[in-house]
Amino acid sequence: MTPMCPCGTGKTYENCCGYFHSGKGYPLSAESLMRSRYSAFVLKDEKYLFETWHKSKRPKTLDLNTQKINWLRLTVLNIEGGTEKDTTGKVEFIAEFKISSKQGKLHEISNFLKEDSKWFYVDGDIV
Ligand SMILES: [Zn+2]
Repeated sequence: MTPMCPCGTGKTYENCCGYFHSGKGYPLSAESLMRSRYSAFVLKDEKYLFETWHKSKRPKTLDLNTQKINWLRLTVLNIEGGTEKDTTGKVEFIAEFKISSKQGKLHEISNFLKEDSKWFYVDGDIV
């Protein structure tokens, strides 16, 4: 059985975020970049997260393997801009997670910026 993409589109991983993680293509919208970054968190793909993080806000280190977060589900609530025609975009989402046996929710509005025709994550506001 082909694994489904963690971002919840209902597509297979290969035909969804896996396509971007493997470097075969680049997300054309802020939403698909956001989804691919969520999947990268799930799969602990630090390289991809760094590459898609805008250099102005990119952290120096990101040690996902020391974090005991299990990401459970992503729900995209709202999108502003972020299409192929835009250079900025906002995506509001809820990401549900579990740490040990405790469940939690991250509700964030993320800011995206397009530079050299690539989308980058800039930062986010917790709602
Ligand atoms: Zn996906």
